[in-house]
Amino acid sequence: MLCDPFGRHIEYLRLSVTDRCDFRCFYCLPRSHRDFETPGDWLTADEIERLVGQFAALGIKHVRLTGGEPLVRKGVDDIARRISALPGIEELSLSTNASRLGKFSGSLHQAGVRRLNISLDSLDEKRFEEITGSRLKPVLQGIEHAADCGFSPIKINMVIMRGINDGEIEGMIEYCLERGLTLRFIETMPVGQAGQSANQHYLPLSEIEARLRKRYQLQPAAMKGSGPASYFRIGDSDLIIGFITPRSQHFCDTCNRVRLSVTGDLHLCLGQEDHLALRPMLRAGASNQEIRQAIQAAIARKPERHRFNEAPTAIIRPMSALGG
Ligand code: SAM
Ligand code: SF4
Repeated sequence: MLCDPFGRHIEYLRLSVTDRCDFRCFYCLPRSHRDFETPGDWLTADEIERLVGQFAALGIKHVRLTGGEPLVRKGVDDIARRISALPGIEELSLSTNASRLGKFSGSLHQAGVRRLNISLDSLDEKRFEEITGSRLKPVLQGIEHAADCGFSPIKINMVIMRGINDGEIEGMIEYCLERGLTLRFIETMPVGQAGQSANQHYLPLSEIEARLRKRYQLQPAAMKGSGPASYFRIGDSDLIIGFITPRSQHFCDTCNRVRLSVTGDLHLCLGQEDHLALRPMLRAGASNQEIRQAIQAAIARKPERHRFNEAPTAIIRPMSALGG
């Protein structure tokens, strides 16, 4: 069992399988960014399997594949299959922009992925292109395909930006209601240069909640693996919406996660730079026991909370490097 100095049990590993992406969401990955990790530094599928096995032996139960865009990594379905076969791993989920779900949904479902988080900030083609630098149609097709393959739940993540997509919230509610999807709103975070320049569009979600309460009845709701979101059911419909408020109301006291980058750096907090480099240990022939001891020692220095509000320019790595 991994437990940090603040009594938080760490059971959840977010695994970035690539720092590359086929999108350039302006709040995440600057269009000018060229400083991607080199393939020789990426953890191989064997290294990922071995490392995640050690995390599982320490009590990690849930792994989420993320990126960058995880579906641009060749062999991501093989990585998923290996992880879901590891003893102790009870749940394997995926965060994606959905652009390649049309192609990969079937093999990912077969490989054991069940839960999907999908980024979707706009249903307007032009606005979607302005935000992501990419096309909306394959994304909507990918979502339909994933629903047909039986993923459940599928959660749509919408980063809310004042003056950009805050007028689309009711439309997104209708879209998710019609398709049986869960919808979560996220506040912008000042991670990396792109996240910091998106700060001008930061909108505290309490404003959105107040606006929605005028139109809908919001009943508190529970969601399995609910993590940092606070959830509400809309009236007596099947739609659950969630608010993720890292800025206006941080949820660090219930943090149960750590993050592993594609190069094998174990990050203890999204909003802090401290990390443990596991790749050099792996490649220098460390034993499994030595790796587990190093992970335990790192968890013992997990920070209490992020400092997004106090130090909004502190994190220079882009969000795409760690996967949110
Ligand atoms: N490419 C995948 C995707 O878009 O879902 C996985 C990686 S992406 C970095 C994970 C999540 O982080 C997405 O929901 C994205 O919207 C969110 N994200 C990226 N940059 C952000 C920022 N500056 N503030 C808040 N959320 C951000
Ligand atoms: Fe790519 Fe996801 Fe970042 Fe958008 S949010 S640029 S899809 S990693």
